[in-house]
Amino acid sequence: MRTTGVAILAALVASGAMRAGQGPPPGPPDWTLVVLGIAQDGGIPHLRCHDALCAAVREGRRRAETVASIGVVNRRTGEAYVFDATPDFRAQVHRLTGGRTPDGIFLTHAHIGHYTGLMYLGRESIGARDVPVYGTARMTAYLRSNGPWRLLVEQRNIELSTITPQKPMDLPGGLRVTSFLVPHRDELTDTVGYRIEGPRASALYVPDTDRWETWNTSIRDLADTADLALLDGTFASPAEVRGRDIAEIPHPMMPVTRELLRGARARLRFIHVNHTNAELDAPDVVREGWEFPL
Ligand SMILES: [Zn+2]
Ligand SMILES: [Zn+2]
Repeated sequence: MRTTGVAILAALVASGAMRAGQGPPPGPPDWTLVVLGIAQDGGIPHLRCHDALCAAVREGRRRAETVASIGVVNRRTGEAYVFDATPDFRAQVHRLTGGRTPDGIFLTHAHIGHYTGLMYLGRESIGARDVPVYGTARMTAYLRSNGPWRLLVEQRNIELSTITPQKPMDLPGGLRVTSFLVPHRDELTDTVGYRIEGPRASALYVPDTDRWETWNTSIRDLADTADLALLDGTFASPAEVRGRDIAEIPHPMMPVTRELLRGARARLRFIHVNHTNAELDAPDVVREGWEFPL
């Protein structure tokens, strides 16, 4: 990470503290966070997977899991934002908005589960007009200079907006979004997580990260500044990835994350779960459709 943990924490806490002083507004919450998918990039069932879990889905005994994504919707105005555009983007937008194009899309990074859903905004699908797409400088440069994504830019289906990590962005209706850099395999772009603050509560979204000890800041400290932490639940045990060295598995293991966040202010929920993960049905793994008022 290029920035210091202290700086990240200072920026995030300052923005949170400022809003906390205002107190929650009266009446029902406008903003609701909705979980749109919980699986790792390859989805569940996973291709070439013949384990009991994948077989159960194929045989209709349990539901398939779409790829990790969250939406934030204003139930009064209908305004809606999506975090990560997954290969399941179509179904996820139907769930969030009833099919209406979201008002903005925030991307974490350029691994297939996190941005390829942008394809549904192009001419072959809805031919959207100027949908705001937010990403880091590396993410937006990547989309601008590589097909098929650059066609979306040239045809003005999407309008790229470069976000600066740690710099809060205020959206209409009292929603504030702040990105922060996350260590992860950065082949094509860098990677961010998001802090999403509504008038009532705040949530962290970090679906994909290397182990916590590679961070320059403490995820525990971040979790103490938020109400909900949706964190990388790819793997529960190194044993689940057969024939590979633990050193080659950079994700944090779920038990390690649980220990780190024990007693934290934020409620911990796992997202981005791999098809090999035996803890898919654990109570702290979030479910598609789960809602959290912001
Ligand atoms: Zn991923
Ligand atoms: Zn990734």
